[in-house]
Amino acid sequence: MSLLEFENVNGFYGNSHVLFDLDMTVEQNEVVALLGRNGAGKTTTFRAITGTIPRREGRIEYRGESIARKSVEAISNSGIKLVPEERRIFPTLTVQENLVVARDAASGTPRDIEEMYEIFSVLDDLRENRGQNLSGGEQQMLSIARALVQNPDLLLLDEPTEGLAPVIVEDLTEILEDIVSRDVTVIIAEQNVEFALSLSERAYIIESGENAWDGTIEELRDREDLLEQYLSVG
Ligand code: ATP
Repeated sequence: MSLLEFENVNGFYGNSHVLFDLDMTVEQNEVVALLGRNGAGKTTTFRAITGTIPRREGRIEYRGESIARKSVEAISNSGIKLVPEERRIFPTLTVQENLVVARDAASGTPRDIEEMYEIFSVLDDLRENRGQNLSGGEQQMLSIARALVQNPDLLLLDEPTEGLAPVIVEDLTEILEDIVSRDVTVIIAEQNVEFALSLSERAYIIESGENAWDGTIEELRDREDLLEQYLSVG
């Protein structure tokens, strides 16, 4: 049984149809890249998983069970956590307080806050600093740490490198390698193809809300045509 299965998924914002018969399968402990240009439908795909899109149709199964009609809370409680593009931290709370609030809100057994400092060593020195005084990179780390402390099985990262300096992207790559080694399945939606490819085993490319291509990263590396056509690099 796959961890997540999507078949013929359609997504709508009011009368606007934005996902078209999308298929996607993610196995336990995989790292999968969800690639596509601005507006291709990556964020909306995540919303279809988390239940925050206004209307979705099709087969969406998590651990073999349909989540297509489950509430946002029920889906979150089943172990799926989204780190949205706009970092979700409490600006006036300290790093430590941000982590405590997230941990205490966990529906199942949370991870240890000390484990978060082990993984995100940059946060260890900033425990008493307020969220609003952190750099963009530090806020991104905290945002991911807040999701991770709730002990998700499936972590959805929406453009985690957005706005980050290359050196921070390198740190984030190492941190995500560490997270993946701790039994977490990850889907990364990215426009930063190099970053996504360095971490992932497989990729789905979406264009205008439709599957455009999927395959292994090895295959994708040889397909400059795809990178150029769908991702404006090459
Ligand atoms: P980005 O990098 O800009 O987030 P994306 O690949 O994540 O791109 P989506 O945000 O999923 O793309 O957008 C897919 C389509 O849905 C776009 O045409 C977008 O304009 C539309 N869309 C997104 N959010 C809404 C909304 N709240 N209401 C109506 N249409 C929306």
